[in-house]
Amino acid sequence: MKSNKLLGLFLSCLMISIPMSGCTSELKEILGESWGVPGGLALACLRDDAYRELVIEIDHAPGYNPESSTVSLLKERLGQVCDKPDGIRIELNEVNFAETSSWTATKVREIGHETMDAPPQSSELRWHVIMPQGKYSDDSVLGVAVDASTIALFSDSIDDATSIFNPRISSEDIENSVMVHEFGHLLGLVNLVYTSPADHEDSEHPGHSNNEDSVMYWAVETVSISAWFAGDLPTAFDQDDLNDMEGMKTGEIATKDQLWRP
Ligand SMILES: [Zn+2]
Repeated sequence: MKSNKLLGLFLSCLMISIPMSGCTSELKEILGESWGVPGGLALACLRDDAYRELVIEIDHAPGYNPESSTVSLLKERLGQVCDKPDGIRIELNEVNFAETSSWTATKVREIGHETMDAPPQSSELRWHVIMPQGKYSDDSVLGVAVDASTIALFSDSIDDATSIFNPRISSEDIENSVMVHEFGHLLGLVNLVYTSPADHEDSEHPGHSNNEDSVMYWAVETVSISAWFAGDLPTAFDQDDLNDMEGMKTGEIATKDQLWRP
């Protein structure tokens, strides 16, 4: 079935004089590649060669809009690492999602792609956050990055992550950190699309930092977050994270799985 469809599309690509890039992306769509892996658009963000503007589309369920502190922090953190001379624009939309209770990575991808206003790579680079009602299938998860441009934050779980044992940490604090953390994954942290010269990946939690002062520390995206931090939550990339991104940007650190490269 799949190969017939593939052959049909391949033939139509050969016969119709539409731009080959369109055919390539449709072929990749069928092969499940075009949306890439988290970190797959890291170079597209870090460098300004192809995309001079970054748009962050945040689609939230009614009543699930992000805190204004989350939006401004995200803009600030991305502005520190992504070279975007025409700026970083945040678009907020209220959306009624087709799913309101139980989410999986597949559902986040499907519904995320359906609700996105424009493709990730057009004249601008577009990254997409959905903030729906409901929880992830593993309800200890506060946020996920599911491909090169799609993130989900689960506000119901973020509310559950506050603890009476640590009243200093509010759900707003947690949302701030989780949002930056998931974007760190889109930027390839830690070791998702490269290998760091620094030994800062947590061997027990792959893809995460072993430094609890980094926003990429593993516990940031889990419901037990309040138990792991005595003081304030980390909201920033640490020096190793920043060095990794700088190395990817300059080419000093080799990158893989990139949907765009210079
Ligand atoms: Zn994570």
